Amino acid sequence: MKYRAPNPNCKCGQPRRPHGRYCQACHAAKQKVYRARMRAEIKGSVYAEAVRKAKMRILLAAIREERGNLCAAAVRLGVHRNTISRAMREVGLTAQQVKQYIREDALKKEAA
Ligand SMILES: [Zn+2]
Repeated sequence: MKYRAPNPNCKCGQPRRPHGRYCQACHAAKQKVYRARMRAEIKGSVYAEAVRKAKMRILLAAIREERGNLCAAAVRLGVHRNTISRAMREVGLTAQQVKQYIREDALKKEAA
């Protein structure tokens, strides 16, 4: 493969910040959103809580469907493997909790 120099511009067309992915304006906008989200999470906003619960449900469903295989669950959700790990960390799910959940689900299926 031929080497392609990275695009020196932000996606908006302005030049990037040094060592950054975005221009100054886009970076400031991203920071603003990020800080607002962190503040909302600290305050325990209803929205953040709803998103957290929905994320957890989606993650657990996908991981259960793939019998605990995180790579396969990532493919199923159309995200990268690392995104699953990060999302699990964000919603406060540990690998042990997921395993426990899958085991309980398997037992329920056996009983039914
Ligand atoms: Zn920009």
